[in-house]
Amino acid sequence: MSGVFSSFPYGAIYYAILDFDSCFLFWLKTTKNTTIQHISQKNILSVKMVYNDIPFDGIKLRENDKRRVAYFYDADVGNYAYGAGHAMKPHRIRMTHSLIMNYGLYKKMEIYRAKPATKQEMCQFHTDEYIDFLSRVTLDNVHQFAKETVKFNINDDCPVFDGLYEYCAISGGGSMEGAARLNRGKCDVAINYAGGLHHAKKSEASGFCYLNDIVLGIIELLRFHPRVLYIDIDVHHGDGVEEAFYTTDRVMTCSFHKYGEFFPGTGELRDVGVGKGKNYSVNVPLRDGIDDASYKNVFEPVIGKIMEWYQPSAVVLQCGGDSLSGDRLGCFNLSMQGHANCVNYVKSFGIPLMIVGGGGYTMRNVARTWCYETGILNNVLLDENLPYNDYFEYYGPDYKLDVRQSNMFNANSPKYLDNILINIFENLEHTKYAPSVQLNIVPNDKENLGDVEEDTAEALDTKGGSQYARDNIVETYNEY
Ligand code: MN
Repeated sequence: MSGVFSSFPYGAIYYAILDFDSCFLFWLKTTKNTTIQHISQKNILSVKMVYNDIPFDGIKLRENDKRRVAYFYDADVGNYAYGAGHAMKPHRIRMTHSLIMNYGLYKKMEIYRAKPATKQEMCQFHTDEYIDFLSRVTLDNVHQFAKETVKFNINDDCPVFDGLYEYCAISGGGSMEGAARLNRGKCDVAINYAGGLHHAKKSEASGFCYLNDIVLGIIELLRFHPRVLYIDIDVHHGDGVEEAFYTTDRVMTCSFHKYGEFFPGTGELRDVGVGKGKNYSVNVPLRDGIDDASYKNVFEPVIGKIMEWYQPSAVVLQCGGDSLSGDRLGCFNLSMQGHANCVNYVKSFGIPLMIVGGGGYTMRNVARTWCYETGILNNVLLDENLPYNDYFEYYGPDYKLDVRQSNMFNANSPKYLDNILINIFENLEHTKYAPSVQLNIVPNDKENLGDVEEDTAEALDTKGGSQYARDNIVETYNEY
């Protein structure tokens, strides 16, 4: 029979009539339905969701994926206090450290106490007058600085407290030395939980942050790396870091945060950078109650695309713990595993990685999560039963290494997340061809004039030593 049809000279017309017929039937069918049904039918037929709603199935480590980890901790940091009743408690860093030690992770990584950042180092980003103010102001003399406290945004959120400047120097020193070790290829991962203070501005304190250790660390990385990716999973927008690199394509910033009537109020989808930096700032504005599955289904596609198209040679991951379920200030619903999945995913790319802390106001959960994540970075999944440690009583009544999701409502619908992904991918299209920069000579440190005498073991360890020593490193550093 088919032979008859194919030899029929008017076959084409016949098929055209058939086709017209099916169109007519389709038209009948769709006009009988309501407009809404018609639209949804059209969507199913022609628009596939970019957002893929896959359940969260926990964390899997790859075998033999051991990295050289350098962990920075200063035992003084837990002694600083913002003041009675303040949500930010540096003590959580000491709690984290005690857990890490008692899980035996010190056997797996190198532990350092960084040299506190100097004024000169701080002023690579901040203004001299702001840093000068931070170094001078105390609880006793603060009344003499009435004008400055307004100008530099010192208030109840960012109060003056005992040892404020030393606290900033410790936080900044860890991130700068971590970056320096990564630069010299001495480690694959550098960790500084005293850092991550992403709200601090060039000349202003903000949101519990005074010194932007992240910006200082990234500036250090930029001496060796053509492109640095900054990822921020704190529940708040990483505004200070975004602002610092808003006009450059050498740093891509990507922040996931609660947006809408929430501090600091910035970070909407359409804020993408300006000038050379256009499309090199990525913002993922989220609603209350995001859970492990939705977070992963947004985080992995966005970061995956950035890795593919931007091709960073170093990554800084801010691990703010206020995105965890049950945080005193946050409103997300991530479990410890959902949070740690971001660390595991970023680690899987095998790019030099700096891990910094950040927010996190339910101390026991922050300590649990950062300890668990330190395990992952050393390629171990820690036992769920907490070892005895200095703050064991904080972890009752269960004494487990776990933060669970609650039954709170997830206000992030698949449709909402789909729209975000579509927008972000559209913007990222413009970054497909990774920008390059010619790095002929590694710029000198401000205080390092390149004397070979400076190449003591300590100088090499903290700052990379002289220009001569660094030139030797550059020769063997053949990443690009
Ligand atoms: Mn964030």
